[in-house]
Amino acid sequence: MFAHNKRLQYTVRVGSSNPGLANLMLEQFGGPQGELAAACRYFTQALAEDDPGRKDMLMDIATEELSHLEVIGTIVAMLNKGAKGRLSEAAESEAELYRSITGNGNSSHVTQVLYGGGPALTNSGGQLWNAGYIDSIGDPSADLRSNIAAEARAKIVYERLINVTDDPGVKDALGFLMTREIAHQQSFEKALYSMSPNFPPGKLAGDPRFTNVYFNMSQGNGDARGPWNAEENFEFVTGADAQKSVDGDGDAAVTLTETEQGVLEQLVVRTASDPESDPLTGAELGMGVDEGEVERQRQ
Ligand code: MN
Ligand code: MN
Repeated sequence: MFAHNKRLQYTVRVGSSNPGLANLMLEQFGGPQGELAAACRYFTQALAEDDPGRKDMLMDIATEELSHLEVIGTIVAMLNKGAKGRLSEAAESEAELYRSITGNGNSSHVTQVLYGGGPALTNSGGQLWNAGYIDSIGDPSADLRSNIAAEARAKIVYERLINVTDDPGVKDALGFLMTREIAHQQSFEKALYSMSPNFPPGKLAGDPRFTNVYFNMSQGNGDARGPWNAEENFEFVTGADAQKSVDGDGDAAVTLTETEQGVLEQLVVRTASDPESDPLTGAELGMGVDEGEVERQRQ
């Protein structure tokens, strides 16, 4: 079950009304790296998790992400309060209201006109939130890696938002939210490495002939060597001849029934191209080629 406590996880002290800034904050409310996506990601993983430790961690973090959603949503609502009141009550002239929601390069008109100043489940550009942001695959070694990357991305978005915010109270709350993503990333890393083995993901081992091979397939100026393709870690295979048909002749094959084979042969005959032909095309007619002249030249 869920229970709600009316006190926020972190206090939100917004200095002044700023609808343009509110719009930017929506990135972490309804954006791909935002708190709703994070909460849904860990909540759905927790429901299916069979390891008691991971299940508990995922539920703890999912619930915390919902608390973050509340904090960032409250920031959006607070930043919009002034504009919301003025717009709802038509407290200023049309021109002044128009300026207040589109001025200074801000684009808060969609949030103001369409959503009435409330935090909308969109990103900062108005793109609607969608469940496709969550890429869980139902395997802990793959999902934990994805969760680590999701926390890294969320941390980066918070960092960028902090850099464009001059309101000290908003900066402070964003700093808390950013810091918690660092903590989550560490928990997910510990959980991943507390599972042994955790690589490769899943149960099947890779084909040993290709597991530690590096194909140098982009060749030319700029070829570089590093630990990602070093001889002590990888067999470095370069040159087109060494890279093609690495398991045999490289020809594709399929076994067909006699009937399938028969109709496919009919299809091949019906759609065969004639390499000897030089047909007059619509493009040539469009360019004013004289059909009669072409015929005479062919004879
Ligand atoms: Mn969060
Ligand atoms: Mn997080």
